[in-house]
Amino acid sequence: MLECTHCISKDKILPATIDLHCHSTISDGLYSPQDLVAHAARRGIKVLALTDHDDIGGLAAAREAALQHDIQFINGVEISVTWKKRTLHIVGLKVNPEYAPLKNVLAAVKQGRIDRAKLMGEGLEKAGILGSFEGALAIAGNSSVTRTHFARFLVGNGHVKDNKTVFKKYLVKGKPGFVDHQWMSLEEAVTLIIDSGGVAVIAHPGRYDLGMVNMHLLMHEFRSYGGAAIEVVTGSHTPPQYQQFAKIAHRFSLKSSLGSDFHGPGISYMDMGSISELPAGCVPVWDDWEEAKYLTQLSA
Ligand code: AMP
Ligand code: MN
Ligand code: MN
Ligand code: MN
Repeated sequence: MLECTHCISKDKILPATIDLHCHSTISDGLYSPQDLVAHAARRGIKVLALTDHDDIGGLAAAREAALQHDIQFINGVEISVTWKKRTLHIVGLKVNPEYAPLKNVLAAVKQGRIDRAKLMGEGLEKAGILGSFEGALAIAGNSSVTRTHFARFLVGNGHVKDNKTVFKKYLVKGKPGFVDHQWMSLEEAVTLIIDSGGVAVIAHPGRYDLGMVNMHLLMHEFRSYGGAAIEVVTGSHTPPQYQQFAKIAHRFSLKSSLGSDFHGPGISYMDMGSISELPAGCVPVWDDWEEAKYLTQLSA
């Protein structure tokens, strides 16, 4: 029998054909929403959510492109949150982009990002780097300005050799371009997502360096606000972390999500279509979604 990596092998589909976390040029990705969807199609993705940072401006274009590529499209967003003085990311899936409170809050966050970028530019100026605010803003265009745009400016101008080094040297806590920004609260983000008809998911929990006590506290608090799932399989988790977070999801009765967190070639942990399925026993966040029906039928 012929087999390919996208076909069913025994009881699993490898790699996953669903991807619920990625970025376009509307935030810090390299592909436009249309090109991102075309890339997803080339990589064998059948169900896709676009989750730009604090911005839902790319959803309409991505949805239209998905129609042409026979991809089931899910509206998404990745909201920045401050929790216990740390920045966490909460993914909202199936949000309604027409829900006015969501649009208004995200518009304010977008402006807040510009104010933060100005302070980042001032910090970098003190370290002898001129013009980074204007430079990052020019690269971002109408998109939400992020640290990634500063990274591109600094690498592009030859200040630093690559994306990885630029974060380490300039853009993380304690470095000249870092600003301790106040994002919205966990409760506000989860509530906003739910009130807009969506499902709240903790993005890449393995990236927060929380320690067990705070990790459990986070799961408990997140659930108390109505949070539904955590990312178990993401581009920035290692395979042992897939198992670790599958257990945590089970323990806190949370569903599991899966996404590459793809930003573009060369700047991503993982490409779309090369990430593995959820570990056995996880309840997928999409288990009751019409858009992902064929996946649940295949794995039943
Ligand atoms: P911001 O939301 O403006 O703080 O930007 C955060 C984005 O910067 C993340 O979503 C990543 O895409 C990128 N990023 C953060 N830390 C790093 C890092 N250490 N190396 C490369 N990219 C990073
Ligand atoms: Mn990003
Ligand atoms: Mn993130
Ligand atoms: Mn992301």
